[in-house]
Amino acid sequence: MKVLIKLHDLVFEPYISGEEINKAIETIAEKLNEDFKGERPIFLSVLNGSFMFSSEVMKRFKEECEIHFVKLGSYEGTDSTGNVRTLIGLNKSLAGKKVVILEDIVDTGGTLKELDRILKEKNVAEYKIATLFYKPSMYREKFTLNYTGIEIPNEFIVGYGLDYDGLGRNLTSVYKRKS
Ligand code: 5GP
Ligand code: MG
Repeated sequence: MKVLIKLHDLVFEPYISGEEINKAIETIAEKLNEDFKGERPIFLSVLNGSFMFSSEVMKRFKEECEIHFVKLGSYEGTDSTGNVRTLIGLNKSLAGKKVVILEDIVDTGGTLKELDRILKEKNVAEYKIATLFYKPSMYREKFTLNYTGIEIPNEFIVGYGLDYDGLGRNLTSVYKRKS
């Protein structure tokens, strides 16, 4: 029997297990360890949703590294407003650095477009994109996603850092909105 949960006014059903999520993170971390051998990357965690993913990636990364945080927002309730705003910016110089963006989920790609603008303005040497979840049918941008965890159809999900109006971030597995 599926155990449903209720957050605010919506009902959610189990969708992706914690085990599957951990496996996806292991795979991403392994590739990062290979690709950044002998380097000192800066992880750029996109708040709020990616705090849990970011911490799990960082715990598995073996080289020297830094982590910085940026807070961007486009979602209201269960919909993207299509308008990405910077809520907490970057105050450190990233000039000449190798950056790895850590995203919870890539949907339309609007957030990545804004990050691309910010990172180019900061004159980073290069950046790569790592995302735990990805909705390919919604993606409208051209940026290559270098490390993707789990692809999903156009469902609204919560858990593992992702919220519905502030709730659900603490769930260690992922739930989708029940239709
Ligand atoms: P994009 O800018 O790619 O359209 O959307 C990216 C951001 O929208 C994500 O970082 C996340 O904060 C939010 N988002 C997209 N899809 C979902 C979803 O299914 N559930 C939740 N909770 N947030 C989502
Ligand atoms: Mg996000």
